[in-house]
Amino acid sequence: MNYQKVALSAGLYFVGVPIGTARDITLRALDVLASADVLAAEDTRSLRRLMDIHGVPLAGRPLVALHDHSKDSVIQRLLAQVREGSSVAYASEAGMPLIADPGFELSRAASAADLPQTCAPGPSAALTALVLAGLPTDAFHFAGFLPNAKAARRSALEGLRDIPATLVFYESPKRVAAMLADARDVLGTARQGAMCRELTKKFEEVQRGTLDDLATALDEKPVKGEIVVLIDRNRSETVSLDRVEDDLRQALAAMTMRDAVDMVAKAHDLPRRQVYQQALTLTKGPPG
Ligand code: SAM
Repeated sequence: MNYQKVALSAGLYFVGVPIGTARDITLRALDVLASADVLAAEDTRSLRRLMDIHGVPLAGRPLVALHDHSKDSVIQRLLAQVREGSSVAYASEAGMPLIADPGFELSRAASAADLPQTCAPGPSAALTALVLAGLPTDAFHFAGFLPNAKAARRSALEGLRDIPATLVFYESPKRVAAMLADARDVLGTARQGAMCRELTKKFEEVQRGTLDDLATALDEKPVKGEIVVLIDRNRSETVSLDRVEDDLRQALAAMTMRDAVDMVAKAHDLPRRQVYQQALTLTKGPPG
């Protein structure tokens, strides 16, 4: 038996569960799942499956669904059970609850009501990817999922451009090619990045390279599975606008606007869009 039945005091127990390999669960997480009076889960079926794998019986205890679309009454009922003296364990479908997953409303409501809560921590895809990406871990910014719509995604990336930290994103295999192409255009071709796929699973893979390398590779060969994208902080020297303007003037005198913008953007590792705006201002005067 991998777990122990323990006496849990009344309170909320957030439980981290594996992100792939079932044996990544901690012994304490199993103890909590085996001992809590009430179980709540983002996906009740996947929690049942995990408990079955580890031989933890439900033994007639209530198992309640709590996800992003649950009514507030579900949270209130769980909190009422804690007030009445019960221990309530909550797990999301994979990894840590609240990390790009439900659980925040529950934690916030418990905090507001000053009820006891703790966490039996487990793996999270973001931290696992940071360990493997080969990018600095002294500071990182978890940006979760970017918006699906292209314009909103690009504008979100622009907002993240100068954060002095490794950027961490969750992404779906369907959208990762478009996301990396936008990241290359907005953040610059030469920035280092990594794509971590299927972590802790059979087909775990880490691809490292510039954003240009990663976007090109994905264009040529789409990927499947679960993905974390990491992007290094901006390391390009700050070039003065005057320097870029001088180079643009010279280039515009010798070639088309398109070629001039491409050349100068590449030379200074600047986003093409920014250099294009500068070229427009030079040729047509400031907007308005
Ligand atoms: N709560 C989870 C955690 O702590 O990592 C994240 C859940 S979020 C709904 C699911 C996303 O996390 C996936 O789309 C993927 O971006 C990332 N993810 C989860 N498991 C992963 C894995 N094994 N390998 C790579 N990425 C993973």
